[in-house]
Amino acid sequence: MADLSLSAPRGSATAAGGHLSGLNPSQKDAVLTLAGPLLVLAGAGTGKTRVITYRMAELIRTGTQPDRILSVTFTNKAAKEMQERMSSLLGGKRQRSRPVVSTFHSLCVKILRQEITALGYPGTFLIYDRGDQESAARKALRDIRVPDTSLRPGDLLAQISKWKTLGVGPEDARDFIEDDRGMLAAAGYRKYQASLRAAGAVDFDDLLMLTDLLFHEFPDVLGRQQQRFDHVQIDEYQDTNEMQFRIIRDLVLPHGNLCVVGDDDQSIYGWRGAEVKHILGFQQHFPGAKVVRLQDNYRCTRQILDLANSLVKHNRGRHEKTLVAHKDGVEVLVRPYADEQTEAEGVVREINYLTKQLNIPPGDIAILFRTNEQPRLFEQELRRLNIPYTLVGGQSFFDRREVRDMMAYLKAIAHPEDEVSLLRIINTPARGIGDTAVEKVLTRAVKSGQKFWAAVPDAVAAKEITVKTAKAMEEFHHLLARFRSQLQTPGQKISTLLRELVDVIDYESEIEKQYKEKHQQLARSGTIDECIEALEQYEERTHQPTLSEFLEQTTLEGREENFGNDDKQLDRPAAKLMTLHSAKGLEFPRVFLVGLEEGILPHKRSVDAEGDDPNAIEEERRLAYVGVTRAKDYLTLTRAETRTSYGKRKLTKVSRFLREMFDLDSEEEAALLGK
Ligand code: ATP
Ligand code: MG
Repeated sequence: MADLSLSAPRGSATAAGGHLSGLNPSQKDAVLTLAGPLLVLAGAGTGKTRVITYRMAELIRTGTQPDRILSVTFTNKAAKEMQERMSSLLGGKRQRSRPVVSTFHSLCVKILRQEITALGYPGTFLIYDRGDQESAARKALRDIRVPDTSLRPGDLLAQISKWKTLGVGPEDARDFIEDDRGMLAAAGYRKYQASLRAAGAVDFDDLLMLTDLLFHEFPDVLGRQQQRFDHVQIDEYQDTNEMQFRIIRDLVLPHGNLCVVGDDDQSIYGWRGAEVKHILGFQQHFPGAKVVRLQDNYRCTRQILDLANSLVKHNRGRHEKTLVAHKDGVEVLVRPYADEQTEAEGVVREINYLTKQLNIPPGDIAILFRTNEQPRLFEQELRRLNIPYTLVGGQSFFDRREVRDMMAYLKAIAHPEDEVSLLRIINTPARGIGDTAVEKVLTRAVKSGQKFWAAVPDAVAAKEITVKTAKAMEEFHHLLARFRSQLQTPGQKISTLLRELVDVIDYESEIEKQYKEKHQQLARSGTIDECIEALEQYEERTHQPTLSEFLEQTTLEGREENFGNDDKQLDRPAAKLMTLHSAKGLEFPRVFLVGLEEGILPHKRSVDAEGDDPNAIEEERRLAYVGVTRAKDYLTLTRAETRTSYGKRKLTKVSRFLREMFDLDSEEEAALLGK
């Protein structure tokens, strides 16, 4: 999250306008516009997030009750940061309540917990993570007997997600079909959604879609939610999708007090259904809206900003913006390396020098990259030189196999109807329950509309599974039931229960089987300990801890890490390795933007799609623009002249973005880029 720390008011906070001394005139204008629709449309680093934070303080200062203000941010991290800044801006004065700062997803979870029963889901619904979704998709395809080759579970999920972000429910999907695959997908969608419903579960896109559905179909629900807030603010508005737009539009209908801030040049989630038309059409959607533009960039040096400007001006569908730098710095460096290995070595050698010779805190440094294949080599080098680092937005803690297993156990204990979790763990660690046997019981259960456990005796009677297997299944069923009732004992700590569970099922033996090397085994056991610790921490900081709530929080956070930021990861004093997507909204004194090659940045997918879809490259350019504008003082751009892909070493092509930034012709390019 960007640093919003400058000039928190002290003492003089009550002097006329003194509390706004950290703002320029346009920012003040925005902060003091408290009623009606307001759009702040401005480039990177111009203080948009700062405006939102100050405006929240201003609303409270002028008498709005804090909990009547809703601010929506893109990540949990941003939300937390805003809460903290808020307290310091209000000069430590105790308030009766706190403003609500949350992401779209957690806002919707709260609404659904109160209202979802109207749609026939339990109020205690479970939120599926990516792994659960994949299992559910696989199961759906199996149910409709689609072979993997016609439609893979991942493709089905992508299609379902597209439909859901547009608000297309399972029954309506048929109307949007273009080909045979679409037919299969629509059928898969219906099965998938039915199985989630049966499990009392929702996925991430449901959080938004079901909220929208509730607002649409139940006016009393909408009315209740509209009563909650008098003011709504949204950061990073350029990345809202259709569902988010509709939810917010409906929420603010009675009063129209909506302030959104964003930058069309930083719209980078088009692939996930975000639509820049929402920010560009704000004045049409909210007639009478006031628009404030900010020009002064307080983040980057003139040198960095010049590059960003000359890059982004190559995009067509954009609002022309001028950005004025407020400080001068050093030239941006461009470094070509022979291959990706030397690129990683070179960058990390420099970081080593900065941190060890110049005593620059590692936390001031970020390495930004486009694809998930890139960080591995950098990680290796950082480890080799003992430089503390955190990988943000890579494989998340919650995606590790052991954590997924533990979560599945906890879910199966908390939610007996959740068969997806059950299937994950029924034979992990191995307890003599083979896949075929599970398959047999499952098919029978699906056919007769029974629950999994209820179908076991019938499967034995029909000789589809052996008595021995059935016994193993029953034992496992009892084990889960035992832990479930133990969980309900007053005073039972969930963390203790998990520790006991790990022992009882002898998970260590599973680890030993999966990993041959001692150090791997140790690392994996460590992961289990971390899991238990996470539970302990949760229990410590929560007044009335419940397993369902813990699972919900970890699902939300775990998911966000994939494209957003985890607080713990960002707060550590360590160099940051992160994707361009997860760097949005953040800033660092020193940035290394690596892999400036055609096929990496811009991504191969977008280069391939260029002929059909020019917007694909424009979105890549915006990503590069986001990357460049994360740097406050120092920026280094690197590329590898050769790179191995699919086992073959190939010559790479200089990224067009590099050429555009420096306005290079081929001769200059040769000189600068060492070709
Ligand atoms: P992004 O588009 O990347 O989200 P932003 O427009 O939200 O950027 P902020 O993160 O709010 O910009 O601000 C960028 C930096 O400029 C921060 O370090 C912030 O503290 C600083 N800043 C903002 N406004 C001012 C100001 N008026 N005077 C001095 N510094 C400022
Ligand atoms: Mg911002």
